[in-house]
Amino acid sequence: SYYTQAMQLVAQNRMSLSNDLHHALAEKQFWLAYQPIVELETGSIHKIEALIRWQHPKRGVVSPAEFIPIAEQTGMITKIGDWVFRQAAQQVKQWQHLYGKDIQISINKSPVQFRSDDNVHSTWFEYLKELDLPGSSIVVEITEGLLMEAKDGIVNKLLAFRDNGIQVALDDFGTGYSSLSYLKKFDIDYIKIDQSFVRNLAPDSSDLALCEAMVMMAHKLGIKVIAEGVETQEQCDLLIAAGCDYGQGYLFSKPLSSQDFESFLNRS
Ligand code: C2E
Ligand code: CA
Ligand code: CA
Ligand code: CA
Repeated sequence: SYYTQAMQLVAQNRMSLSNDLHHALAEKQFWLAYQPIVELETGSIHKIEALIRWQHPKRGVVSPAEFIPIAEQTGMITKIGDWVFRQAAQQVKQWQHLYGKDIQISINKSPVQFRSDDNVHSTWFEYLKELDLPGSSIVVEITEGLLMEAKDGIVNKLLAFRDNGIQVALDDFGTGYSSLSYLKKFDIDYIKIDQSFVRNLAPDSSDLALCEAMVMMAHKLGIKVIAEGVETQEQCDLLIAAGCDYGQGYLFSKPLSSQDFESFLNRS
C-alpha cells in the first residue's frame, strides 16, 4: 500500500541520515548559526543564541529539527552537544574581545544530554577555565519536560551549572506541561515565550493576555523574559507594552554565520 511504502521511505531516510551523522563531526560538516537576542527597551544586543547547522555533502543544509531527534535516539547527541558547547565558547570569547565582556551566548541542550551519566559537564567547566572564560558568558537553554522529570541527577547538574556561573533559560515556554511550581523549585534565569504565542499577537487577543500574564509572573519570581519568533513591528510593540525584556526573531535578524553576524553587529 501507499502507506507502507511511505513508511519505508521515511525509515530509509532516517537510516541514511543516521549513517551520515556518524561522519559529520569528523568531516567538519557542522557549523553554528547565530541569532541576536535584542533588549527591547534599548535595542542593544548582548545575548546571542547559537543554532547548529549541518552542511550535508549531498542534501545541502539539513535542519536541526530533522537531525537532532535522530542524534538523540542514537546517542550521538552527546558528542554533537559537546562540540556545540566548545565551538560556542570559543566564539563568545572572541566576540567579548571585539564587542565587550558582557556578551553572552545561549546554547541548546537536549534532555538526553542531561540524562546520560557521563562527566561531560566537569570537562565543560575545565574547558571554560582553559579559555579563561567566566561561566556567566554561557546560558544553557533547556525545555520544560526536563524539569518535570525532577530526577536528582538532573537537579544536581543544573546546580553545577549555577555553581559555575552558567545561567539557565527555559525554552519553548508555555507549550509543555508547564507547571509554575517548577519555576519556583528550580532557579531559572530566563523563560523564552514560545513562538506560537507571538505569531498571532494582536491587541485584545488571548495570546496577548497570556504573554502579559507570563511576563508578570516571571518578573515576580525575578526571572527575565525573552519572546521568540518576533517577526513584525506590531508584535514587538505589543511585547514592549507587556513588559517583555528581550525579543528574538526575523524582525531583528535571521540566524547568521559568524562572519555575517559580525557585519550585522558592525552595521547596527
Ligand atoms: P529553538 O531552540 O526553539 O530555536 C528557535 C528556532 O526558531 C530556530 O530554528 C530559529 O531559526 C527559528 N526562528 C528564529 N526566529 C524566528 C522567527 O522570527 N520566525 C520563525 N518562524 N522562526 C524563527 P532552527 O535553527 O531550525 O532550530 C530548530 C530547533 O532545533 C531549535 O528550536 C532547537 O530545539 C534545536 N536545535 C538547534 N540547535 C541546536 C543545538 O545546538 N543543540 C540541540 N540540542 N538542539 C538544537
Ligand atoms: Ca532555543
Ligand atoms: Ca524555542
Ligand atoms: Ca533568578
